[in-house]
Amino acid sequence: MSAEIIDGKMVAELLYKRVKEDVQQWCKKGNRRPFLQVILVGDEPASIIYTGTKTKACQQVGIETDTMVLQDTISENELTEIIHSCNTNYDIDGILVQMPLPSHLSKYSVIEAIDHRKDVDGFHPMNVGRLSLDQPCFKSCTPAGVMELLKYYSIPVKSKHAVVVGASTIVGSPMAVMLSRENSTGKATTTICHKYTRDLTAHTIGADILIVAAGQPNLIKAEMVKQGVVIIDVGINRIADETHEKGYRLVGDVDFESVRIKASWITPVPGGVGPMTVAMLMKNTLLAAKKSVYPK
Ligand code: NAD
Repeated sequence: MSAEIIDGKMVAELLYKRVKEDVQQWCKKGNRRPFLQVILVGDEPASIIYTGTKTKACQQVGIETDTMVLQDTISENELTEIIHSCNTNYDIDGILVQMPLPSHLSKYSVIEAIDHRKDVDGFHPMNVGRLSLDQPCFKSCTPAGVMELLKYYSIPVKSKHAVVVGASTIVGSPMAVMLSRENSTGKATTTICHKYTRDLTAHTIGADILIVAAGQPNLIKAEMVKQGVVIIDVGINRIADETHEKGYRLVGDVDFESVRIKASWITPVPGGVGPMTVAMLMKNTLLAAKKSVYPK
């Protein structure tokens, strides 16, 4: 038997459709279009691609957007001043600073400079803290996208053993919080693993739901999981491949072909979690415009 495929591309398209309709309704009521301000520091090729994808998504759903491109020599003071001016600009609903930043800039200081009510990435300490307290907040887009996929496919979470491999502040940690909170979407018994975990298999083998966000190609192999496991592969890794036009291909953190034989559900890479991340960003930007999360 082979696992059912969790089609993130399809679910993301449904979400785009819903956000687009909501944007239209919002504008019909006389409101201006939601506006996302993207700030790109430097000219990292990957960051240019990511900001381009976000711009395209905005265009698809009718959200206005602008990408401010700043020199990678900008000082932290200059950058935070620009962010402050976006914070007080009434016409801007969401602010996103594309990561990673050049090494002389502290990502934490920069994120903290963003008004948490405009932090559509869900990275600000206020949003991270409120997530842990089960309070309304902007949720980090990738783990929120994973929760949306589980919900769409009616995959039960309550009382399951969820294992998260990867403990980063933007994916693994908020993922574990979302799964473990005793709220309507969580209630999983949750284990979080990282590169300091001694015997990874001892943990992954017991997982009913295994979420992998380690950035390590083929880290998870068939012998590390049990029959019927639900696999969510967040990893995106470039592997050199001369047979591909670009000279590389994308793979996840899971050895897809061997693991799919044991799993009940599995996300592919690409086409799994990736498209959901940008879709959740669109949803958050609309929520910011409507002031649904923070009414004041
Ligand atoms: P990160 O480098 O910040 O964190 C990686 C985490 O994995 C760390 O906690 C580390 O301890 C853990 N780890 C590394 N090697 C490990 C190992 N051998 N065993 C157990 N744990 C290990 O990365 P991140 O930003 O969280 O991203 C993780 C992966 O997810 C990357 O491949 C990234 O490209 C991808 N990603 C995808 C999306 C998406 O939209 N699908 C979004 C963000 C990140």
